[in-house]
Amino acid sequence: MYPFTYQRAHSLPDSVQGLRNDAEAKLLAGGMTLLPTMKMRLAAPSRLIDITRLADLRGMTREGNSLVIGAAQRHGEVAADPTVRDAIPALADLAGHIGDPQVRARGTLGGSIANNDPAADYPAALLGLDATVITDRRSIAAADFFLGLFTTALEPDEIIRAVRFTLPRRAFYAKFAQAASGYAMAGVMVAQLDAGIRVAVTGAGPGVFRWREAEAALERRWSTEAIADCALDTGALNTDLHGSAAYRAQLVRVMAAQAIGRLDGAAR
Ligand SMILES: Cc1cc2nc3c(=O)[nH]c(=O)nc-3n(C[C@H](O)[C@H](O)[C@H](O)COP(=O)(O)OP(=O)(O)OC[C@H]3O[C@@H](n4cnc5c(N)ncnc54)[C@H](O)[C@@H]3O)c2cc1C
Repeated sequence: MYPFTYQRAHSLPDSVQGLRNDAEAKLLAGGMTLLPTMKMRLAAPSRLIDITRLADLRGMTREGNSLVIGAAQRHGEVAADPTVRDAIPALADLAGHIGDPQVRARGTLGGSIANNDPAADYPAALLGLDATVITDRRSIAAADFFLGLFTTALEPDEIIRAVRFTLPRRAFYAKFAQAASGYAMAGVMVAQLDAGIRVAVTGAGPGVFRWREAEAALERRWSTEAIADCALDTGALNTDLHGSAAYRAQLVRVMAAQAIGRLDGAAR
């Protein structure tokens, strides 16, 4: 690890200014990705601006038909929070299955989606639940936020404040986890929203995506059989040491079927 300056942020404007003053500065949230990256010398920020104690980035509140979660809320906090568990149990369950207890004690919602790892869980929740990312300067629909492998719509000096999730009628997230890390080999969020059915997939491709053929099939007929033969472009899925694209396609089908099966057996 190279030397760097540690700075505890005292306000949101203070943090934005810190990023503007130093193009090599980075925000530090849970550090679960950033610090290992620095240890491996794949990143060498000059300054880390620690935003985890900013009150502006905290809170888990129900607002009408939505749930707003602060960017600095840790996965373990989201998993255990009664408001989240009551409003969107699928989201609490998703957070409770990220990594291991140590990762859930440090990792944050904002850090996860800013990083946009193609195997991360939260992106499927944001896309599946038609969420909106609220930053220090604007609101970005999830569909416009995730731009592909480790890439988002964030400007270099932009900070995520919170995420607004639409309350689904019901939703379930099924994940086949990579055994060592817990990251998704394939994770599928199936949600019934007022606006229609969403099927969002993470882990299988270079970035989170909506499986629109499955959505259309489920709109026509809500059943696990409806998606059995749905088109899924294996050419767009990942092949790596953990599994082939064909294997991942099969996992996506199985996870989607599991989610539908769980929804048939459970209320929202
Ligand atoms: C062993 C291990 C297992 C894991 N397993 C899983 C898993 O199963 N599923 C899963 O989804 N994830 C998993 N993760 C990832 C983890 O859950 C964290 O979400 C992730 O590492 C990033 O969150 P963080 O808060 O630690 O961010 P950091 O590492 O602190 O930051 C990551 C990036 O986001 C930027 N950033 C942070 N906060 C903000 C903000 N508010 N606005 C703008 N930019 C910001 C930082 O500058 C940095 O570039 C795992 C990580 C580890 C180490």
